[in-house]
Amino acid sequence: MVLLSALPNILPLTAHASGVSGGGGNVMFPVNPLNPAAVEEVTEKLSLARPSVASYFEGKEALLEVGSLTDDEAAIFAPLFQAGKGIVATARESGLEIEQNKPCFDSSATPFDGSTHSQRQGAVCVSALSISKKVERDDIAAQSAALLAHEFTEVLGFSEDHAVRVQSKVLADFRRLQP
Ligand SMILES: [Zn+2]
Repeated sequence: MVLLSALPNILPLTAHASGVSGGGGNVMFPVNPLNPAAVEEVTEKLSLARPSVASYFEGKEALLEVGSLTDDEAAIFAPLFQAGKGIVATARESGLEIEQNKPCFDSSATPFDGSTHSQRQGAVCVSALSISKKVERDDIAAQSAALLAHEFTEVLGFSEDHAVRVQSKVLADFRRLQP
């Protein structure tokens, strides 16, 4: 199904390597898409990705409760259900601002594909424009879900490292689930 264009990948995995989070997040393994999607298509996939991510976390929580997550998955996901109002409600209820003409910006005004900072208090920003330039069309649903998961994790106050760990797991799982 996916991905990796023949063009060299010169973009860093994330612009901010580790530790303290300014609330920004980028898609993982960015490429110069051979078959780029229109911004409108990315916008639609981002809207659809939000309920998918909420259901995904709900499923992980159910598996955790019956002891069916691997130790690795439990270490990544368990804290997300305990923090604040929890990742499921955060994913369902956070406002979502989808930028179509510019990137999102973190707390230091650095551009990112997604951010916990937006024009509305408590809303998460994701940029359909940025994603359209960095993700192959058939990977947009998975990358959108993973980036939203990164941002919802940061909304709950987790570190950049943890947000990237969640993002990476969500990306792998959604890529596997794709037809
Ligand atoms: Zn981040």
